[in-house]
Amino acid sequence: MALSFPDLSGAALNDLVEKLTHYAISNGLVIYPPGFKAYQPSVAPVTLYPTPFPRAQFSKGVAISTKFNELYSRVVVDKSWLKQVIADLSKYDRNFTGMLYKTYLEAEPKIVQPVSLGLFRSDYMLDTVSNSIKQVEFNTVSVSFGGLSPKVGQLHSFLNSQGLYGRPQYYQEADLPTSQSMDGLAKGLLEAVKYYETSEKTASTIVLFVVQPGERNVFDQRAIEYSLFAKGVKSERVEFDKVTSSVKVDSSSKLFYKEQEVAVVYYRSAYAPSEYNHPDSWKARLLLETTKAVKCPSLLVQLSGAKKVQQLLTDRAVLQKYGFLDEELLSTFVRIYPLDSSEQGQIAKKLVFEHSERFVLKPQREGGGNNIYKQDIPGFLRSLDEKEWGAYILMELIVPAVHDNHILRNGEVLDESIVSELGMFGTLLFNETDGTILHNDYAGYLLRSKTSTSNEGGVAAGFGCVDSLYLHD
Ligand code: ADP
Ligand code: MG
Repeated sequence: MALSFPDLSGAALNDLVEKLTHYAISNGLVIYPPGFKAYQPSVAPVTLYPTPFPRAQFSKGVAISTKFNELYSRVVVDKSWLKQVIADLSKYDRNFTGMLYKTYLEAEPKIVQPVSLGLFRSDYMLDTVSNSIKQVEFNTVSVSFGGLSPKVGQLHSFLNSQGLYGRPQYYQEADLPTSQSMDGLAKGLLEAVKYYETSEKTASTIVLFVVQPGERNVFDQRAIEYSLFAKGVKSERVEFDKVTSSVKVDSSSKLFYKEQEVAVVYYRSAYAPSEYNHPDSWKARLLLETTKAVKCPSLLVQLSGAKKVQQLLTDRAVLQKYGFLDEELLSTFVRIYPLDSSEQGQIAKKLVFEHSERFVLKPQREGGGNNIYKQDIPGFLRSLDEKEWGAYILMELIVPAVHDNHILRNGEVLDESIVSELGMFGTLLFNETDGTILHNDYAGYLLRSKTSTSNEGGVAAGFGCVDSLYLHD
């Protein structure tokens, strides 16, 4: 049984908030506020307490992490299948999925680096109906909060061991696992650097973080950079818009940035259409794709994270094709339907109008704020030509557990219950041509929580916060 939350108020609560705030700032659990100055970070939105989670379900998430990594590697290696899926999607979404795909096709004959790196995050919610984790989505590009997540665990653990939740200690320390995601993701990057340096017989290479201008979540990224530097590898940051004007590619397709050889291109950007407004945006993508540097992710790996692919993978026949008809994986799937002319699509088109309250409608987009929920779905679909519906997937809503934890945001303790989403990081270095896996590892977790009344949980967008686990039996 799980302990209920500590019940703090008055002076004890004020004391907790002050100590939490100071610990967070002292240890880099920070984010920039909108319109920031470089010297003005603020405490990242966090929960006051760790949130209860069943140990067995957490362990399952850990256990299937490397399986999901490998499954996605097989999808990418099955190029003709993936290309067909993406070509179909491109018809609906010419300007983004279509452009990513077109850029891939242009790059394809010029690809000189078959090995690519995935820093993935498989997101789940604990479904109260089945008491099992259910997958929300599988992220293959620019996964965030791996740098901050360990700091939240350390924060909660610090507050607990100081007796601030209740003396001598409210929770057993062993029940508060700290995420190793900062070092875990850095380790993934390191593996890619080692592969590159060995195969190119070179040394002293760097990782190039390709980033967004004015990034507010920069400390999350810096944490990974510093961890990697402690392992002996330097990183540089370049804004996506500045790639073409600042990198050099030599005659053997090696990539250089400020005279330093780049072993790995690590995108913390380039996943949303709004980032491609510069005249050279697509040229930049194409240029990097055709260099010897290992891409994290490659265009194909990014495209394999399409929600359409996730929907297709819930089909047993498809899973079987990849050798992953695995009960543990399957137990994490909810129903996801296409909205096309297939048999499943016909069923879904009926269901969605009869029971819209059971569903979320998702376009092929990343980064939050794009989905249509419940009662909004029918009107939204009617506003489109039915031919356009195939661009979306229709997913059953997961009904997660609600907890009386509290979010601390901008110094204010919110008086609203929360729901949580568990992200499992994974690192995968593999050869996209022959399928060889060079490295495959679980890389720590992220717990993100949001007020139970909001549909989405973007932390930077102001919907959610970072949290940590309290495991119970
Ligand atoms: P994005 O790529 O924008 O992050 P997601 O698929 O992760 O898209 O959806 C965004 C958010 O919407 C999730 O973090 C979660 O809070 C909510 N959500 C998505 N799918 C479901 C679902 N099937 N059941 C309940 N909530 C969901
Ligand atoms: Mg998401």
